[in-house]
Amino acid sequence: MTRPYAAEPAAAENPADAASPRRPGPARRHRPRPLAVLAVTPLLRYAVARHAVPAGTDRRSGCDACAAPIGLDRPWPALGPAARCGGCGARVGAPPATVELAAVAAVVVLLLARPPAVELLAAAWWLAFAVPLLFVDVAVHRLPDRLTWPAAGGTWLLLGLAALAGSGPAPWLRATAAGLGLALFFAGTTLLLGARGFGIGDAKLALGAGTLLGWYGWSVPLLGLFLALTLSGVVALGLLLTGRARWSSHLPFGPYLVLGTVGALLLLR
Ligand SMILES: [Zn+2]
Repeated sequence: MTRPYAAEPAAAENPADAASPRRPGPARRHRPRPLAVLAVTPLLRYAVARHAVPAGTDRRSGCDACAAPIGLDRPWPALGPAARCGGCGARVGAPPATVELAAVAAVVVLLLARPPAVELLAAAWWLAFAVPLLFVDVAVHRLPDRLTWPAAGGTWLLLGLAALAGSGPAPWLRATAAGLGLALFFAGTTLLLGARGFGIGDAKLALGAGTLLGWYGWSVPLLGLFLALTLSGVVALGLLLTGRARWSSHLPFGPYLVLGTVGALLLLR
């Protein structure tokens, strides 16, 4: 898997080397401030409010209590950290401050993982969908196509750009295969185990997660999967022991897949 990336000035790093994905050169780019992400959190909240609805129902367009419209033209206070309807004060979408905290955490992860520019864009793109997906899955146990497909497609295209920008086709082909492989793994459990397996939504989320992590090496998506399974197992055990879940309970897996992916990105350092 070793290619002479280092010989090309535009590719100062070897993406195939999962152990040291950081740019070794002294060039330190301008670093955005994590709190700047709060400017776009109404967009994330909008995605959560729209999509956190039961299967088969229309996307939410207004307050559940008073039907006051929810829109990006007038985001506050419904799409702000308070998450309250401006008309009646009822809660809208994800709990107060949670999306904002998750978005800041996502930016901190990107600053810590510090991938090269185009790879950073790909990771930011994926996280911009993964954060709302996490909240939607927790709320209604669904991972809507309208978020999982663009997450995977955009990540794949941006990594394709990174390949064109000098990294070469090898990491991109690996990312493609890893995304498809991880998605097939999740889809396979659905086919084999039915309702006791993962959902097809999990498979679509895994398509993007595997693509994002596969760029950095074959072991990275496996690490992400391992972290996700471990974390969900620990939480499920805790819920069972405290009587808050039964063996038959079906817990959403999307949040663990997101956290496992983030964990694997962080361990790349
Ligand atoms: Zn209202």
